[in-house]
Amino acid sequence: MKYPKAVLDLIECFESLPSVGKKTAERYALYCLMQKEEAELIDFSNALIGLKKDIHICPCCGNITENELCDVCSDDTRNHRLILVVESIKDLFTIEKINEYQGIYHVLNGAISVSKGIGVNDLNIASLEEKCKNGEVDEIILATNATLEGETTARYLHELLKDYNVKITRLAYGLPVGGDLSYADEMTVLKAFEGRREYK
Ligand SMILES: [Zn+2]
Repeated sequence: MKYPKAVLDLIECFESLPSVGKKTAERYALYCLMQKEEAELIDFSNALIGLKKDIHICPCCGNITENELCDVCSDDTRNHRLILVVESIKDLFTIEKINEYQGIYHVLNGAISVSKGIGVNDLNIASLEEKCKNGEVDEIILATNATLEGETTARYLHELLKDYNVKITRLAYGLPVGGDLSYADEMTVLKAFEGRREYK
C-alpha cells in the first residue's frame, strides 16, 4: 500500500531540500497533513509562492531584493567604490550582521568547482569586471570561502582584475582551511575583516 498521491507529492517536495532524507520528508509531510490547520498551510504555500513572485536579484550586486535595487546598493551613505566579493547571499547577510562594513557587495552565486562542474561562466563575474574597467572601484575585498573552491575563485578573480587600477585584498581568515564564512561567528568575521591583506 502506498501513500495517496498528494502525500507522495509533498514528500517529494521536502526530499528535494538539502539535508532532508526520505524519512524526514515523510515525517514532515504527515505532520503537515495531521497537525497543521488548513489556514497555516495556505500561509506556508503563499510564502513559497511569494519567494519567486516578490523577490528578484539586484542587477547591481546579485543580492536579493523586493525593490529595483537592493537595500545596500540604494544606500547613498555607503562607499560604492569598496566592493566585497562573496560566494553567496548567506555570506552577505553574515557580514551585514556585524554592522561594520560600509561598502557594497558582489555576490558570485557560487565558486569555481571542477568536481561540481561549475566554471567561470556559471558565476556572476562580468558586471564586476565591468565596474573595474569603468574605474568605479577603489578596492575589491575577496571574501570567498577558505576552501579549495573559494581559493581557486579568489585566484581567478585576482588574475582577471589585477591589471585594472584596483586594490585587491583578501580576508584574513582566523579559520581553519575549509572554513565557511557563513559558519564563522561575528568576532571571527570582524577580525578577518580588519586583518585583510593585499592579495598577490
Ligand atoms: Zn545590490
